[in-house]
Amino acid sequence: MSKERFSIPATPKDFRFPMGDFKLKFLLIFTLCLFGFPSPLLSQREPALEWHLLYLKIRDRLIGKEEAQRQLRQLEFLLKKTYPKNLKKGTEDRLCFPLKGNTPTSIGGKQGSGYKPEGYDFFDGDQHKGHPGHNLFIRDKNQDGLDDDTGKPVEVLSASLGIVVSANLNWKPPSAVRGGNYVWIYDPMKDRYYYYAHLNEVIVRVGQMVLRGVCLGTVGRTGLNAYRKKSSTHLHFTVHHSVEGSPTPIDPYHELISSLLK
Ligand SMILES: [Zn+2]
Repeated sequence: MSKERFSIPATPKDFRFPMGDFKLKFLLIFTLCLFGFPSPLLSQREPALEWHLLYLKIRDRLIGKEEAQRQLRQLEFLLKKTYPKNLKKGTEDRLCFPLKGNTPTSIGGKQGSGYKPEGYDFFDGDQHKGHPGHNLFIRDKNQDGLDDDTGKPVEVLSASLGIVVSANLNWKPPSAVRGGNYVWIYDPMKDRYYYYAHLNEVIVRVGQMVLRGVCLGTVGRTGLNAYRKKSSTHLHFTVHHSVEGSPTPIDPYHELISSLLK
């Protein structure tokens, strides 16, 4: 047995190997980060923010239907993948009535007649036809946006759980945006979008997760038609079901009738 077998390597040449190994590891990690390793810094997308930006293009007719649908399909996939595990579903499946302190008697029209989906296409944006939702009116004869009985603003509550995927906050006339200050919420459990329009104040932000019954803001008179004198103060409420990036309106009338009141 020679002594050299147990000697500590001392020449500079002997130290090159560990350095080379380190470089290899670095290269491997760097490559993984670039191509698919779930690095929080390099590969994380923000599907809610992307949805918001895409919606602005749809709303303002700056993108074709096919391309918008393709992007929406991908974003819905990402939204489902990213968020549902953090959301509490609970056993209660009913919607929450979106106007605090109000009841389904505030639904406009006769027995849900305000819902007119004929000719409507989500991808027509602000140029869409029909009225694929319900107007929920508050008691506001003098049109100051406050409840005539309480003298206070009326809170808009989230009908469902979900992710805030778009919010418009600073509508002012003469902006032609029809929804004024609005909120879009995606429910990844039910593949649904909820749209709340004409709010005064919006207190939620894009990317935020909400539970059913959470306050989204207050009823207002914002939006191209809603701010005019001829319009009574109301919340516009629309529900879409979406499969493969194709939001289609559904009539929530019966769900509103049997909803939870707060
Ligand atoms: Zn409406």
